Amino acid sequence: MLEKFSVKTRARCELLDITPLVREAARKSKAQSGVCFVYTPHTTAGIVINENADPDVKRDISKFLEKLIPKNSGFDHSEGNSDAHIKSCLCGNSKTVFIEDGDLMLGTWEGIYFAEFDGPRTREVLVKVLREV
Ligand code: ZN
Repeated sequence: MLEKFSVKTRARCELLDITPLVREAARKSKAQSGVCFVYTPHTTAGIVINENADPDVKRDISKFLEKLIPKNSGFDHSEGNSDAHIKSCLCGNSKTVFIEDGDLMLGTWEGIYFAEFDGPRTREVLVKVLREV
């Protein structure tokens, strides 16, 4: 099955916790055991898995990526958002999470984030679950 949902980002560079939305999509599949693919079809965004206990971590990740790849670095791309394309390449636009006992097998401190690099925008996330039979 394929589930889709939209997210609205509020800043140019932001990590948005989508764990509850992915978990809900995975539960809808009724898979007790399987594989959950999370994908975003955008070239200036990504999907990351990282700590969701201390919100400073997601802010530090965003801030450091902005420092590492500044918007105005003399890129050629006429849209002016090459930094966002590069950040998207570094993070990747998909992640895979196993499902066991009907739930995502995330670590205690892990969350799934939509990584916005050229917001604010409305973005799409696709979740595909393959059930083990
Ligand atoms: Zn572009």
